[in-house]
Amino acid sequence: MRAGVIAVQGDVAEHVAAVEQAGERLGQDVDVVEIRDAGVVPDCDVLLMPGGESTTISRTLQREGIAPEIEAHADADKPIFATCAGLIVCSRDPQDDRVQELGLLDVAVERNAFGRQKHSFEAAIDVTGLDEPFPAVFIRAPAIDDVGEDVEVLATVQGRPVAVRQGAIVGTAFHPELTDDARLHDLALFEPLAAADA
Ligand code: GLN
Repeated sequence: MRAGVIAVQGDVAEHVAAVEQAGERLGQDVDVVEIRDAGVVPDCDVLLMPGGESTTISRTLQREGIAPEIEAHADADKPIFATCAGLIVCSRDPQDDRVQELGLLDVAVERNAFGRQKHSFEAAIDVTGLDEPFPAVFIRAPAIDDVGEDVEVLATVQGRPVAVRQGAIVGTAFHPELTDDARLHDLALFEPLAAADA
């Protein structure tokens, strides 16, 4: 399987490590490529959209012609795992004109929803599909509002959705790649492929 990590900005190396770790644990060969130019996404089975700065990431994706390739990947129902800024970029409505969203997930998001002063916190949260709580790291994280009817909420914090799934796309407001726990990479990327093969 070939996994593409959108690498225009943000915490790319951590996602590369997490997807390699998930592959190792499942005994599956994974070829991980970092994507900075157009022409690579079409060869990928799954995509990861890291956290970082959603304004920068979204504009670069449009400028480099990568955005329409991600849209085609989503149209083909191939898995995408989008975290934090990646989730904002994938949303239908980032509620901020500086973000050039892709509109792949039928959610509105509020950037920096958990406060600017307290930039980061960690919480063990229950996630639908995982047996044990997940150690979720929130860094200037968005909250998810206004979830469309095709969107399943997988986890909430302070009563607000922070992990969702719609078809082959999973989005989290937090950073699963910053822990040693690759269960969400497994759930978002490997399980759908295994199900498609079965
Ligand atoms: N606050 C950032 C944004 O709005 C997201 C932060 C992150 O990805 N950790 O783009």
